[in-house]
Amino acid sequence: MLVFRQLFDPPSSTYTYLLGDSDAGDAVIIDPVFENVHRDTALLRELGLRLVATLDTHVHADHVTGAWLLKQRCGSQILLSEASAAANADRLLKHGDRIPFGTRHLEVRATPGHTSGCLTYVLDDHGMAFTGDSLLIRGCGRTDFQQGSPGLLYRSVQDQILSLPPECLLYPAHDYRGLTVTSVAEEKRFNPRLGGAVDAADFAGYMNNLGLPHPKLMDIAVPANLRCGRPDGSATVPQEPAWAPLTCTFSGVWEIQPTTLEERIAGSHADDIQVIDVREPQEFTDALGHIRGARLLPLSQLAGRANEIERGRPVVTVCRSGARSAQATVLLQKSGFKEVANLAGGMLRWRAESLPVEDGGN
Ligand code: FE
Repeated sequence: MLVFRQLFDPPSSTYTYLLGDSDAGDAVIIDPVFENVHRDTALLRELGLRLVATLDTHVHADHVTGAWLLKQRCGSQILLSEASAAANADRLLKHGDRIPFGTRHLEVRATPGHTSGCLTYVLDDHGMAFTGDSLLIRGCGRTDFQQGSPGLLYRSVQDQILSLPPECLLYPAHDYRGLTVTSVAEEKRFNPRLGGAVDAADFAGYMNNLGLPHPKLMDIAVPANLRCGRPDGSATVPQEPAWAPLTCTFSGVWEIQPTTLEERIAGSHADDIQVIDVREPQEFTDALGHIRGARLLPLSQLAGRANEIERGRPVVTVCRSGARSAQATVLLQKSGFKEVANLAGGMLRWRAESLPVEDGGN
């Protein structure tokens, strides 16, 4: 089955797309954003997908691609246009190439004009296309830098995108109003720049008089993207927490697995982690019991009593199922705690894995 997710980066209004084949377990990501790599790898893990490749639609001027960082984390290949002249790519794409994921594939169409290396990725059944900035919802990317050309963009959109079946859904790289998807038929009729009776001269007149400001991040983003997002000396890579092997969920919570926590509290570093049990007092001593050394601090009182927790030591929060304790990590982070994780699955999973408890029934 086809898996499809549209993801959003609020600071740059960028859409990132995940496409996967759930039977084969392979996925690709189009236009990943550097700062969102934790989120994207969490989603891949939760959906049980292996990232085989990242695809950029072009060398972006408004955000740094996550391609290089995802390659470090997932072993994925970096793909983008040959015309982009970017370093660190694993495969340089040309018009007509195919990008397989499981039994499905994307077809590569060269759609230059916003930049000279813009590509549109079209799904094998022509039901969806990922247009980058070549065609936006009722708009299009600017043509006044990065070898942009109104004449080229006009031809690209007409010949390679609006020639797709009318019902083909079009997914852009950005939308600044929160619109998410359009179709070939809609854009042919209603795109004020490229639809209706607009011809190449009308389009060029429109594009040459946009008067847009320089993109804020351009001087950082373009050089970084010409390295496929590989940081240079000045850039900081989003760090994994160092105090324990943790995983980040797609909901944004850092988790520790029960056996990892048990090894830590039973081992030589027994004192370094504070286990805070956020259930109600009667639950602390009911059939599930509690973890040795855990301190009871119910979620309802946590915000007011956070100063009772030591700030210099990592904190693991625990509850029955892992839900209330996930909220506890959010509260603690708001109170300034940096090293906080939720016990995945709570006491239920702790007991299911036959880990030791105090005061519990059998
Ligand atoms: Fe762009």
